[in-house]
Amino acid sequence: MTKRIPLAHLPTPIEPLPSLTKLLQGPQLFIKRDDLTGLGMGGNKTRKLEYLTADALAQGCRTLITTGAVQSNHCRQVAAAAARLGLGCILVLGGPDPGTRQGNLLLDALSGAKLVFVPTDERDQRLQQAFAQAKEDDMQPYLIPYGGSNPVGVQGYIQAMQELQEQALKSDWIVLASSSGGTQAGMVLGGKQTGFTGRILGISVDKLATELTQTIIALANQTATYLNMGVEITPQDVFVNDAYCQAGYGNLQPAEVEAIQLFARTEGILLDPVYTSRAAAGLIDLIRKGFFSRDEIVLFWHTGGIPALFAEPYTSTLLG
Ligand SMILES: *Cc1c(COP(=O)(O)O)cnc(C)c1O
Repeated sequence: MTKRIPLAHLPTPIEPLPSLTKLLQGPQLFIKRDDLTGLGMGGNKTRKLEYLTADALAQGCRTLITTGAVQSNHCRQVAAAAARLGLGCILVLGGPDPGTRQGNLLLDALSGAKLVFVPTDERDQRLQQAFAQAKEDDMQPYLIPYGGSNPVGVQGYIQAMQELQEQALKSDWIVLASSSGGTQAGMVLGGKQTGFTGRILGISVDKLATELTQTIIALANQTATYLNMGVEITPQDVFVNDAYCQAGYGNLQPAEVEAIQLFARTEGILLDPVYTSRAAAGLIDLIRKGFFSRDEIVLFWHTGGIPALFAEPYTSTLLG
């Protein structure tokens, strides 16, 4: 087990969503506020970074290097973690330089990260190149994979399920936005460890269910081996719904705008335009279709991402 460097404000609160529950006439809705983890405006990557940065420091590394989209929440949190710990930071961002610095990109720059824009389809190769170059330049780089999703990072969400157990909300479902799979893999493993009896439903942001399910199972089992947990995750443990991701990554749809407005106007809670809005739109649709029964408790796990609201094209799209 990796040591942990405290970076996040924990435990994150669990709050009821009474107005939304009433409006949708559905199950009892609660929210777990991992948008409030704090570091550089927070989000789910901060929990993973508590372990990843500990591993980096244990290896004597001096520079964090990672990759993501131009409006990556992961990259923004890596940049903030590097700043907090006095480390350098290189971000390899997939997509053209938009010129202006808005949303997450503004925060990356404020945190002092070095930004490298690359074509999205060359992202992994260019990440490896940047890593090799940083090594040659004696920067002692530590490579954090896309989304922080490897066995070291996954520990953040094993720990989060222990935190949930201590908060003693007996939810029948956890619903979350799932993409690189690390968050859900950690929840599934942590759920096994703590005897969580509910189901954990990932709303896929950008991958077919077959692919994402396999990714989550593989990552969870690698992590279980790494930690000597003596558990095996099987397809029965992993629930993924890919009905809401056809528009592709980051392509904000009307149902997602509705979800953002609904959460903001009924509960005063902000969702992001890439991940949590997609998961919430899925949740709302499933409620309207009667997927959950009225007496069930559904915990929507907010994974953050709010800074992207303040970047184009999202800002304009949100107000029509
Ligand atoms: C990265 C991210 C996710 C997805 O988490 P994974 O561990 O990659 O599946 C969900 N929501 C937000 C806001 C994110 O930034």
